[in-house]
Amino acid sequence: MKSYNRYLPSSPIIENDDFAIFAHENLKPIVEELLEKITIEKQRILQFFGFRDYNKIEINLFDRQEEYLNYARQFYDPPHYDKGNFANGAISHVYDPKNIETDTLKVNLMHEFSHICYSKIWRSLYDRIIWLDEGLAQNLSQEKHDLEENRELFKRWYNTRIVDEKRTIPDITFLSRHGTKYGEFVDGETHRYSGYEISYLLIRYLRDIQTDIKNLLYDVATIRELEQHIIKDCIAYYNKVFDIEKSPQFAEVRPSKSI
Ligand SMILES: [Zn+2]
Repeated sequence: MKSYNRYLPSSPIIENDDFAIFAHENLKPIVEELLEKITIEKQRILQFFGFRDYNKIEINLFDRQEEYLNYARQFYDPPHYDKGNFANGAISHVYDPKNIETDTLKVNLMHEFSHICYSKIWRSLYDRIIWLDEGLAQNLSQEKHDLEENRELFKRWYNTRIVDEKRTIPDITFLSRHGTKYGEFVDGETHRYSGYEISYLLIRYLRDIQTDIKNLLYDVATIRELEQHIIKDCIAYYNKVFDIEKSPQFAEVRPSKSI
């Protein structure tokens, strides 16, 4: 393997059989608690994917964006807003040294760990399907747990972030695009739309209607079939749940397959 610069102290600040965390001294007060939490979370995510075990993973935690980007540039061309990756089999993420929160870091790290697990499947079966990958990462990391626990909050979020009349719901082809504009989806003309949010909702929908997601991940024919109608089905489902009668606007624009 090509050698690379970690931009962090060369020995782990803490480690166990599951993870070795590399970080600056300012993380010291929380590393024990963090390691304990992510070791438990790792088992939950492995169980979801049906994986028995996973080799020990290195985690790199950066307290400055520039330092993180310098690290990431050794593997790919990161956009300026990039905060985390799973390049080179390691999990790397930025944190704010003025506001160090164990649970935020836990969620960030488990988001990337979900990508690592899912990459084991798609790398052998098909090109990365981004809405599935990002949707799973958000659902499995529980980063939107406030929306899961509070129905009113979820309803408000759905109304404002997904079906607000100023928005146009993207076509699934926008959500399958590789590249750095994923979180900056523009719905054809003027309205920005977050690819992450609709991806979260699509996977939550599959969970809510009790789809066997674990098996679906191995079945590209079914995924491709699902893509023909999942967005409309999902919106129809939550419109019914929340008693919303008005149908939102759907984008009809399909970018060419080669993008
Ligand atoms: Zn992600």
